[in-house]
Amino acid sequence: MRESFLPFHRQSIGDEEIESVVRVLRSPWVTSGPEVDAFEKEFAAYVGAKHALAVNSCTAALHLALEAMGIGGGDEVLVPTMTFAASAETVLYLKARPVLVDIDPHSLLMDLRDAEAKISSKTKAIMPVHVAGLPSAMPAWIELAKVRNIQLVEDAAHAFPAKSSGRWIGSISNATCFSFYATKTITTGEGGMLTLNSDAHYRRAKRMRSHGLDRDVWSRSGSQDPWRYDIVSPGFKYNMTDIAGAMGRVQLRKAEEMRQKRQEIAAFYNAHFGNCEALECPASNQAAGDLHSWHLYTLRLRPEVLRIERDQFIRELKNRNIGASVHWIPLHLHTLYRERFGYTPEALPQATGISSRIFSLPIYPDMSERDRLDVVEAVHLILQTFKR
Ligand SMILES: *Cc1c(COP(=O)(O)O)cnc(C)c1O
Repeated sequence: MRESFLPFHRQSIGDEEIESVVRVLRSPWVTSGPEVDAFEKEFAAYVGAKHALAVNSCTAALHLALEAMGIGGGDEVLVPTMTFAASAETVLYLKARPVLVDIDPHSLLMDLRDAEAKISSKTKAIMPVHVAGLPSAMPAWIELAKVRNIQLVEDAAHAFPAKSSGRWIGSISNATCFSFYATKTITTGEGGMLTLNSDAHYRRAKRMRSHGLDRDVWSRSGSQDPWRYDIVSPGFKYNMTDIAGAMGRVQLRKAEEMRQKRQEIAAFYNAHFGNCEALECPASNQAAGDLHSWHLYTLRLRPEVLRIERDQFIRELKNRNIGASVHWIPLHLHTLYRERFGYTPEALPQATGISSRIFSLPIYPDMSERDRLDVVEAVHLILQTFKR
């Protein structure tokens, strides 16, 4: 058994990131400024988006995107139940209603047919979530959105860098929201990016990112009357600092190299778990031209061949010094959604069935060959011990 604990995640931050942050700290400007400007331009160029707005979280990006589209009281937004709190809570911020959609049991992504069935006259937007970095089939969502005249807001917190049918996530729909939270594929500590393809959405979201002012501090700083601004809407405080922006620029340059390392680990896991009767491996790319970011590697237990449940399985992994996690308990099983909207476990049966069997293993660039082998050995040992 390994001697030290292998954490579920460890960020990859090198000397370059540290030097870039120190450079900003020694400069006269630490909040949103030249580094954020450059980060936005470089990110937009990477994914081929018309506009990019750096923000202090993906949650902020989701809020700004929905707000810019005019979503408000009485509106409905389709959100998969298998996602993180942020996806649906940002809909609630705007007094709109998140309508939870079940998942495809193979991909774990929002189910197209269930989404279609839940579209009503109040539906204003659909929020595909690229869970684990596996791209949701964007051509199908675009078609549906076009036919029903609905907006798309992608929650791409896991999906950088990733492609759907040959197109970069971030360039496809009107709004895409990325996360640079500590555990995500690239990190700025906390941070996010909103990419937009409409000039009108961009103008609105840019204003609302900075208190609804007509000009932000950095763009005023060189002007004749830098103190002058006009408040045009009650906005938010969602800007990114140059400290984070500088770090993001370095992470951006390493993003593909880090993705390839995660992909290698995923292939290694698939090779060792593919034949296990007690495990279901995660879905791989679904269409030609898809690129998986491999943010997460999720397995599902098959309870019919095991004498161990998921929670105990994770405890057994911990006993063998391997960290693991769960993504996620679906939204409809949480108090907020049960009590406010009356969701029952049976309402979204696929997600309910999978939620008690799913868990995530460590997958990050700085894992050594020994680390991944330790993970595989620990999983096999537990499966052997608890075979039915
Ligand atoms: C992490 C995450 C978010 C929120 O990202 P923050 O940058 O922490 O706000 C949103 N959606 C999903 C699916 C996530 O995993």
